[in-house]
Amino acid sequence: MKFVVDTHTHTISSGHAYSTVQEMAREASLNGIEMFVVTDHGPAMKGAPCLYHFGNLRVIPEVLYGVKILKGVEANIIDYTGGLDMPDEYLRRLDFVIASFHDICIEPKTQEEHTQAMINVLQNPYVDAIAHPGNPQFPVDIKRVVGVAKENGKLIEINNHSFVTRKGSEENCKEFARECKRQGVKIVCGSDSHISFDVGRFDRIYKLLEEVDIPSELIMNTSVDKLEEYIKQKKARIGRK
Ligand SMILES: [Zn+2]
Ligand SMILES: [Zn+2]
Repeated sequence: MKFVVDTHTHTISSGHAYSTVQEMAREASLNGIEMFVVTDHGPAMKGAPCLYHFGNLRVIPEVLYGVKILKGVEANIIDYTGGLDMPDEYLRRLDFVIASFHDICIEPKTQEEHTQAMINVLQNPYVDAIAHPGNPQFPVDIKRVVGVAKENGKLIEINNHSFVTRKGSEENCKEFARECKRQGVKIVCGSDSHISFDVGRFDRIYKLLEEVDIPSELIMNTSVDKLEEYIKQKKARIGRK
């Protein structure tokens, strides 16, 4: 299995990442990546860009070095009702929205509270996927979360970076993958790269997905067409051209 799409990447604008969009595109083209989504952190994270940054993403070319570039965000979940750090009118205009828990933006509570927040976020029509849902700092009821993703046509992310930076993620990620397989929910894989050299880096994910024996039709990263088709349907659903 070879992925040609990366749906989770950070540029220098995130504040603690180190490459420009141009550098990322160039490196992606060298690594056989055909499309990536720029998902810089939402404004609630220290050092992340303000809302205007996200309102101006249209200045980034749609294709650089032959690589398609989609505009997105990694929004922060900032409360346990599922509130995000970006208003709907901004989320609505982006190609791809991932949302996640980070302990510097919200304090961990109980499993039930994390689960409920994640469910509420998945019910937000502008959110496409939960990023690194296997983060052991924010344990959730995996079966319930995957069930809600299914009901709402949403995606579950498996994050390559988690296996290094979020210790203990692997078992949870495996369980998410198994549950997606059981319920037929689509998976989206993100490198979560914070430097150009890691764009399209999925080495740990390949291993995990092989172990779980996920059918390739459940993985969104195997072709540009697959993700574009998903986005087309999402745009129709939220009333956008
Ligand atoms: Zn994150
Ligand atoms: Zn990230």
